[in-house]
Formats: sequence, structure tokens, C-alpha cells
Amino acid sequence: MKILLLGKNGQVGWELQRALQPLGEVLSLDRSVDKNGLSGDLADFDQIKATIDAVRPDIIVNAAAYTAVDKAETDRENADLINHLAVRHLAECCANQKILLIHYSTDYVFNGKGVQAWSEGDETDPVNLYGSTKRLGEIALEYGGCEFINFRTSWVYGSHGNNFIKTMLKLASTREELSIIHDQIGAPTGAALIADVTAQALKFYSLGSESQKRNLLGHYHLAASGECSWFEYASFIFDLAKEKGQTLAIQKVRAIETIEYPTPAKRPLNSRLNTTKLRTNFKLHLPNWKLGVAQVLEEIIK
Ligand code: NDP
Repeated sequence: MKILLLGKNGQVGWELQRALQPLGEVLSLDRSVDKNGLSGDLADFDQIKATIDAVRPDIIVNAAAYTAVDKAETDRENADLINHLAVRHLAECCANQKILLIHYSTDYVFNGKGVQAWSEGDETDPVNLYGSTKRLGEIALEYGGCEFINFRTSWVYGSHGNNFIKTMLKLASTREELSIIHDQIGAPTGAALIADVTAQALKFYSLGSESQKRNLLGHYHLAASGECSWFEYASFIFDLAKEKGQTLAIQKVRAIETIEYPTPAKRPLNSRLNTTKLRTNFKLHLPNWKLGVAQVLEEIIK
């Protein structure tokens, strides 16, 4: 099996570089041009096509994306280029060459109303521009004619890259009091878990018959089990860091509502994802969010 990984240096891409190795030959690219003249710059459609033509992979795993949620509000063109138009282009290349395309999307394709966990078939209705461009990317997959598996995930963190855990630890080292949002609910999901699930799902897929493979295609919700607010997530980080001997200045964490913390991009309140389809179809177990957070926290502290 030959796999082309795009976005190798993102949080998820970094973990995929490790997790995909046992599956076969993996070529990992970022947006730079490598020594063989290959590049994974999603914005350069000709270069992407030339790279795919040269590599001729069986599978493309696209971990690259425009992920700056607030910046996207004023940078619509670039967000749309990477999250939508480039995905359409990738889907076309994959359809022409019968390549399986693995892609990632977000809980931000939903409007965050209600308290029920979102299922794959629920109506999408993004409330910010990042979510809109990610949804347009999904539509490009649906109509692009290629075989695809799209994992919608949420609240991603990893030991590689910037994320909520690192930001909280930094703030808590100097600030005695912090106000954290308590009315957005979701599940922090480790980049390592996303990468491992991707690899397991690909293995499972590769062993299936042609009709079993066809039935496995489509959208999936991939998140750690359990749920929390950002306030609960931050409190867990602070408690555990102290337990591990970290000296933190933080004394008080105040729970606030989203309305008290305005950001350029609106955020959905309900980010719960129903993962039944993923767990059932691929026979997978998804651990509680606290397990992965604790492990990455220890790695960061070390
Ligand atoms: P990161 O922001 O960590 O990584 C994204 C990667 O995409 C970066 O390495 C970036 O490279 C690369 N990239 C951006 N533009 C281009 C381009 N033109 N060509 C090639 N590469 C490019 O994202 P995550 O790993 O956190 O996210 C992985 C997936 O999960 C994405 O699809 C994202 O939408 C989705 N997701 C993420 C969530 C999160 O909380 N982070 C939540 C829900 C879904 P560079 O560093 O050079 O810019």
C-alpha cells in the first residue's frame, strides 16, 4: 500500500507520520518542495497534480487545512482556497486515478444548537466562515466522484503544535485568576488518537471485500468519549499539572459564558459528536478524553 500524506507538520499530520508507517510505504509532504521536486502545497493545483502523478499513491491522507478560525473571518479567500477549492481539486485527482482520499473536517459544520450529540446525517449549518469553508470541502468530496472517508473531529490537541493545553499552562504560570468559557461543550480529542484511528480504519478497510469497502466510505464523527466545557478542560489541566509537581500561579478559575468573551468568529455551543457509526463500522473503542489529555500534559511538562 502506498500512502501520500499531506500536511505532515500539523498536529494531526505529525502523528500520522508515525501511525501510518506500519501500513506500507508512506511519503509525507508539507507545502515546501522536497529534494525530488515533490510538494504538498494545496494552493498550487498544478504542483499537487504533478506530485500525485509522480507518486501514484493508493491512498492520499489530507491533514492540511486552513485552521485559523478567527483569522478566517477576514481572510475568506485563503480559507476557501485551502478548505474548499483545494479539496475539490484533490477529489478530482483522486477520482481520475481511483485513489482513496482520507480527509478531516470539524464539528463546526453544525450550528451548535440543542444538547444532543450530532450524528453524521444531521443537517449542517456552520456559524462561522471556517466552518462554512470546511463544509464546502465536504460537499466537494460528496460530489467529486472519488472514494473518500472524512473524519469530523473536535477540539484537537497534541504534543506537537500550539493548542489549548499549552496556552493554559503558559497563562497559569503567571496569572492568579483566569476566566474560561463554561457553556461550550465538546470532547478534547488527541491528534495521536485521530492518527491511530485513521490507521486502524485504513487497515480494516484494506481487508474488506469490494462491497464492504464501498459501505465503509463516507463521513464519520471521531472524538474521544465523554464531554466537558472549556472551563472543565482547563480545571482538569491545572489540577493535574499541580499534582505532577508544576508550580502554577493560578488560584482561581472563573466559569463564564461565551457571550462574555467575544471573538471574531462565533463558536457553536454544542460540539458533541455522536461516534456510534465510527465505533460500529470499524469496530473501534474510543477512550475518555481525560486519558489522552493526561498523557500529552505529561509530555509537555517533561
Ligand atoms: P494544524 O493547524 O495543526 O495543521 C494544519 C496544517 O496544514 C499545517 O501544517 C499547515 O502548514 C498546513 N497547511 C496550511 N495551508 C497549507 C497549504 N496551502 N498547503 C499545504 N499545507 C498547508 O491543524 P490540525 O492538525 O489541528 O487539524 C487537522 C484537521 O483537523 C484539519 O482538517 C482541521 O480542519 C481539522 N480539525 C481541527 C481542529 C482543531 O481544534 N485544531 C478541530 C476540528 C477539526 P503550515 O504550518 O505550513 O501553515
